Amino acid sequence: MFHGFGPHDVGLFHHLNSINYFRANEHAMRFYQLCLLSFFWASLWGQTEYPQDSFRSPLDIPLILAGTFGELRSDHFHAGIDIKTQQRQGLPVYAIADGTVTRIKVSHWGYGKALYIAHPNGHTSVYAHLQKFSPEIEAYIKRIQYEKRSYEVEVFPDFGELGVKKEDLVAYTGNTGGSSGPHLHFEIRNSISEKPTNPLLYGLEVRDATSPTLMEVYGYPLSSDAQVNQSQNKIQLNFRRQADGTYLADKVYASGTIGFGVVTFDRQDLAANKNGVFSIQQTVNGKVYTDFDFTSFSFKETRYINTLIDYEHYSRYRKRIQRCFKTNGNHLGIYNKLYNDGKIMVNNGMTYKVKILVADLEGNTTVLNIPVEGKVQEIQVEREEKESENFLIANRPNNYKLGNSSVYFPADTFYEDFYIDLKNSGDTVQIHNTSIPAHKRFTISFDVSGIEAEKREKMFIARLSKSGKIGYESTYKRGANFTTKTRHLGTFTLATDTIAPKIRAKNFKNKQWLTNYKYLSLHISDDLSGIDSYRATLNGEWILMEYEPKKRTLTYNFDDKILDQKQCELKVIVTDNVGNTSTFNSHFYRN
Ligand SMILES: [Zn+2]
Repeated sequence: MFHGFGPHDVGLFHHLNSINYFRANEHAMRFYQLCLLSFFWASLWGQTEYPQDSFRSPLDIPLILAGTFGELRSDHFHAGIDIKTQQRQGLPVYAIADGTVTRIKVSHWGYGKALYIAHPNGHTSVYAHLQKFSPEIEAYIKRIQYEKRSYEVEVFPDFGELGVKKEDLVAYTGNTGGSSGPHLHFEIRNSISEKPTNPLLYGLEVRDATSPTLMEVYGYPLSSDAQVNQSQNKIQLNFRRQADGTYLADKVYASGTIGFGVVTFDRQDLAANKNGVFSIQQTVNGKVYTDFDFTSFSFKETRYINTLIDYEHYSRYRKRIQRCFKTNGNHLGIYNKLYNDGKIMVNNGMTYKVKILVADLEGNTTVLNIPVEGKVQEIQVEREEKESENFLIANRPNNYKLGNSSVYFPADTFYEDFYIDLKNSGDTVQIHNTSIPAHKRFTISFDVSGIEAEKREKMFIARLSKSGKIGYESTYKRGANFTTKTRHLGTFTLATDTIAPKIRAKNFKNKQWLTNYKYLSLHISDDLSGIDSYRATLNGEWILMEYEPKKRTLTYNFDDKILDQKQCELKVIVTDNVGNTSTFNSHFYRN
């Protein structure tokens, strides 16, 4: 049962029951009840948006972070904090407050094994990349996995079905899904809007007395008549640390509308990890031009990170410049204040004191002063014009035919208009390059009518990496038409995969006695198109095998099933993305 409510809420609950907006299904209704109740509960008791004493830490170890909230990641802002787990897995994870499990997801990718707990104060805590769940939750999810015959599952338990108390052990830390080392990914979301909020705003303790580090500073000429230090292109600025701890940039001579950008990171006290900063503010002669921070954002807007950073610079140097000015395609809601979109109009003969303040959540602030003088100078670096025959208007749909292939961009695929470069030769099509980010998925089609139907079966659309490596793109085949939807510009081609996946036993041999074994482990791999699915049976019955793509392993846990037969026949079938199939058979014995 759910334990979180006091005697006061009974009436409220009844009142909510009488609201007839929610007719969808019982589960949804209960969830909305929970949300509404949380909302009323929170407002009745005058709780702030970020209650300070409600939550305990999800772990028993000191919180040392490998990632902060809002940290700049590829195509998204980090929605939680990454807590280091001492290079180990299996650390106990505790419910941060009373609540009820509202969602459990098990996936090969992304969050791996993830648990969502809704709390009566209107917040939901999220625990991800878990190794496994608590015995009770583990039994619950395994029952569903065996029912659905799938390792990957997502369930929304009924309200109160899996109730938890603060401090209850709910899971163990791991490294599942898109995690590159053992850690706990932890989030606190608003239960109603599902907006992730900065978990460190709730009083969790992380030692941080270190100010953010400023790595690089850039000046941007923005208007067509603009220049910065005799350049019409973005230019790097020199800066030095002053005796008072602030930083001072060399005087900038500029004209027209200009902007600035910084490469910066924050380090906590106890780890070397380069984490994200909390806020950036830009003032000009004391007036705030730009102010944004990472208290909260929505998943809907997270991809607009590609408009906050200088994406072209990132694609070339893998460094993220955070721009203190907002471009037209930028629809981020993280700004507290913007004046003239953070752009500075520089007039001849005038001087401007530009100040950039970069802070972490503890308020440790790094200050950079940039003196600017309005002066038209002789241009030494002219604007690079990258013209092509196709000028793409971003807010319109665009369709291009390229030999036996075509590409269709829906309206607003891109943030800005640009000259698009398109080339094709044979089965390969080059769709611009990776320097421009796409917001929406666009469609690439290949006409394969010139290829025998039999050969087509083993073919797929591939994206070529810069080094020419083949990557499978989900390929939809309709007769002689192959299509894929992608958000990546670059080089695409038709590739063929005729080789079936490889399967081999890792910790056992055929006809071996495995009485004392806790688990079976197999290695599976596939060249070119990659693994699509797998299926394993023991004496003809479906068994749950956990697939870990990073290690290319399939694992079966003997605890799952009581085997009543001494002799066991294991059968594993693995299929790749074009349908090549391999079957692995093995006998073993157990007492
Ligand atoms: Zn994370």
